[in-house]
Amino acid sequence: MPSEPNHVLEFPGGYTRSTGPVIGRFLTELRAGRIVGVRTAARKVLVPPLEYDPATGEPTLTTPDQTSPEPSYDFVEVGPAGTVREWTWVEEPRKNHPLDRPFAWALIRLDGADTSLVHAVDAPVKAMRTGMRVWPRWRSDRVGSITDLECFVPEVSTIVATVRTEYTVTPGAALARYLDALTREVFLAGRCPTCESVYVPYRLSCPQCGSVIEEELEVGPAGTVTTFAINNLPDPRAPQVPFVSAYILLDGADTPIIALLSEIPSDQVTEGMRVRAVFEGGTVKWFAPEREA
Ligand SMILES: [Zn+2]
Repeated sequence: MPSEPNHVLEFPGGYTRSTGPVIGRFLTELRAGRIVGVRTAARKVLVPPLEYDPATGEPTLTTPDQTSPEPSYDFVEVGPAGTVREWTWVEEPRKNHPLDRPFAWALIRLDGADTSLVHAVDAPVKAMRTGMRVWPRWRSDRVGSITDLECFVPEVSTIVATVRTEYTVTPGAALARYLDALTREVFLAGRCPTCESVYVPYRLSCPQCGSVIEEELEVGPAGTVTTFAINNLPDPRAPQVPFVSAYILLDGADTPIIALLSEIPSDQVTEGMRVRAVFEGGTVKWFAPEREA
């Protein structure tokens, strides 16, 4: 196996230093648990996205067609799974490495991408091989950093039939249970037995580790605004503008939900604000600032 190449060591810092529209979008998507690349004029999808195509030196800011002459970046969601193209083993992790146990640095070609991303793979060395399928393991409290992606882990292969069955046979069942609970003004969540992440809406398997989720619990109805947007274009669900959409971390949950925030002027909304669900007609009407009882 080759020794650890230097450019890999520089990787995490390289992203945290960078700003601008392309990396900014990449990091914002990471915070939301998505990975995006940018499509070049040559129709290649670069991941991580870059402002210039390294193959041609051309900007990736493109003008897609005559009807919309405004140049823009063509961001494309990729993965989240991918294939290991090359890898190198790290027997003794250093302090700034993403894992504190032996792991692999790998070049990972995410599904839908034309370039590879360097990231850590948490797997036993005997499981590592070129061509292996890997999935991201996300941190539950993401901040918009490459480290929001904690690492990649091998695709679940030994119990893949079970997990796939849960997904394909009952995808509607988890959502149906969640919606049914909402009619009782309850937010139903599920706790992963392995990594203990609490997901809302309730779901049947853990997106981080693939475990089957059986434990149900109630979260909320109060929570904290983690981030929000003030919208000035009307939406069918919110005809009055401006309206505020917010990511709300319900008390007891590890994943935020997105919801309308109302009963407060939009310029008074703050991150960290305490809010509570307002139910109407068997569902969540919106969230409103929590008032002292
Ligand atoms: Zn889990």
